[in-house]
Amino acid sequence: CGIVGVLGNHEAAPILVEALKRLEYRGYDSAGIATVNDGTLDRRRAVGKLVNLSDLLVHEPLAGKSGIGHTRWATHGAPTVNNAHPHKAGPVAVVHNGIIENFRELRAELAEHGVKFITETDTETVALMAQHYLSQGHDPVEAAKRTIARLDGAFALAFLFDGHDDLMIAARKGSPLALGYGEGEMFVGSDAIALSPLTDKISYLEEGDVTVITRTSVEVTDANGALANRAIRTIQIDS
Ligand code: GLU
Repeated sequence: CGIVGVLGNHEAAPILVEALKRLEYRGYDSAGIATVNDGTLDRRRAVGKLVNLSDLLVHEPLAGKSGIGHTRWATHGAPTVNNAHPHKAGPVAVVHNGIIENFRELRAELAEHGVKFITETDTETVALMAQHYLSQGHDPVEAAKRTIARLDGAFALAFLFDGHDDLMIAARKGSPLALGYGEGEMFVGSDAIALSPLTDKISYLEEGDVTVITRTSVEVTDANGALANRAIRTIQIDS
């Protein structure tokens, strides 16, 4: 029910957990984060309160300065660790708020290519679809864009890729998503409150936007695939 992301200059895990705490008010049943560390994508997930994820991270730390995080309010599949986000399929990790309405059709299509499913979620389909496009030779940006174009429903999404420490792809359709601008750092969050300790420079994605983010660049394309500018505002949030 909440999404955060960071391409930063500091360890991402504590930043992600702190930002997720600021989204706790939305409610959730499980939580998780994924990072890219020295090019390697890995993740940690826990059921229940964020403190369970924090405890797990004490015993099994996750290094890396790029990451995505999620608090889940289960819609498809029980609130288990296996169904918790980030979902990972080979070299791609995805966090998702909302519902992919056509996930059964997409699942059937992927199954014809021999793709196996290990969760009960609609979201896993997104990760597997992106992996499928990567395996066809598309680069991460193209694979994510092709995947997003196939999705019906309401979603906010963030993608992270193995071997890509300076790339995050985010999309918005029916669920809000804010971008936060730092000094050589970029942040993504379900709302500006999640990002307020990190930056006060915020822009909001609009319906159908897809954005390709690095530490130093943001490219937004609108619902028609045209380049778009989303105004950066300085936002005042207490605490
Ligand atoms: N539909 C997804 C799931 O059940 C995402 C739910 C959410 O927005 O947290 O895993």
